[in-house]
Amino acid sequence: MLNKKQLKYFKNLLNEKLEDLLKEVDRTVSGMSDLNENMPDPTDRATLESDRNFTLRIRDRERKLIGKIKDALDRIENGTYGICESCEEDISDERLKARPVTTLCIACKKKQEDEEKIKGI
Ligand SMILES: [Zn+2]
Repeated sequence: MLNKKQLKYFKNLLNEKLEDLLKEVDRTVSGMSDLNENMPDPTDRATLESDRNFTLRIRDRERKLIGKIKDALDRIENGTYGICESCEEDISDERLKARPVTTLCIACKKKQEDEEKIKGI
């Protein structure tokens, strides 16, 4: 189990990541409104369109990550943070530091990835 000091460390880490992401989203949104400016050349429009799709994909990923970070913060609050949701063993400190939003220990994660590979996802 993680002690209070460790929990505080991960809470800060997650809050920092969340703040960074929210700032990033703000920037993306204001960048997108620039795209609505006059752009008469169709080639430029096409480029802008693919930029826009790219931006939307990034935003989608950001949104998902924001959700994951919020879930992780909830788990810190209710005392389930750092526990694998599959086998209920503790997730190693190193793994949490590398991927603080994770809900699976390394063994379960590997199992999940292997299963996905077999299913061809
Ligand atoms: Zn596990």
